[in-house]
Amino acid sequence: MSSIKIFGIIGGDKRQIFLAESLLRDGYGVILAGFDKLKGQGFNNLSDVRAAALFSDAVILPLPCVRSDKSLNAPFASQNIYFSDDELDALCKKPVFAGMRERLLRVYPKLENAEVYDYAARDDFAILNALPTAEGAVEIAMREYEGTIFGSRSLVTGFGRIGKVLARMLKSLGSDVTVSARRQSDFAYINTLGCRAVNTETMNLARGYELIFNTVPSLIFDEKLLENTDRTALLIDLASLPGGVDFESARKLGIDAYSAPGLPGKCSPKSAGEIIKKTVFSIIEEVNR
Ligand code: NAP
Repeated sequence: MSSIKIFGIIGGDKRQIFLAESLLRDGYGVILAGFDKLKGQGFNNLSDVRAAALFSDAVILPLPCVRSDKSLNAPFASQNIYFSDDELDALCKKPVFAGMRERLLRVYPKLENAEVYDYAARDDFAILNALPTAEGAVEIAMREYEGTIFGSRSLVTGFGRIGKVLARMLKSLGSDVTVSARRQSDFAYINTLGCRAVNTETMNLARGYELIFNTVPSLIFDEKLLENTDRTALLIDLASLPGGVDFESARKLGIDAYSAPGLPGKCSPKSAGEIIKKTVFSIIEEVNR
């Protein structure tokens, strides 16, 4: 990857604004496009998509990069953004960093052979992102639960990247934490954190918890398990769509259940922007090695 001096940042939310500011502080040029709704709110150096695609050395696209209607994910753009042919030709000639590359290629197959890197598919990105996700989950719990986290009984289902950080965070706030997993090594690890371990695959009861956080990307809280969950529990589903909770059954049973996607961008856009930057630079370093 030849030396990059100017980044085009096209679309995205507050994360990309912090990302742009951080790149500028590092001495890079930034062409920011897809943020025209912010014009006049301290953002006057906004460009258009064409300039960002053509006159940058590399382009950073959002996470997820495209929406279901195939437009670029650009909540601060006043109109939907679709790349034109000459913009696509420009993107084919430079490194493009995108969150969820497959979605981009489905909409723009022309980019199939282009240098498109998926920063969100990387383990380092997901591990770093687990921290703002866990903090966001705790924030929801603090807001929605009428008690304190200290002294609460909580259940975290799943002991992957988010489960590990969240369990430790809840424990450090004084919650009595149980974690579900499905591997012996994870049960041992959970115990070393001072938490109780249960098996996700045989869990047919979720009683005695005031706070439940699901991180398993599979339907764990189905109707049957929800029937065996306390009505007073606050259930927060962190797993990406379709999620791990049958919300219709939860509603019928009177259980307070929240779907909480995209927490890093919503709760900690500054850190989430830094995480995108860090991952993009790791990719550049690896490619240049
Ligand atoms: P992860 O590291 O892959 O962890 C997933 C956990 O779920 C692991 O413990 C895994 O067990 C377990 N698991 C997966 N499928 C299972 C099944 N069928 N039955 C039982 N256990 C199962 O994922 P992560 O990074 O923690 O992310 C968790 C979810 O949150 C994902 O859907 C991710 O996309 C989403 N996410 C949400 C946010 C947000 O803001 N809400 C932010 C980032 C990511 P094994 O290790 O044994 O496979």
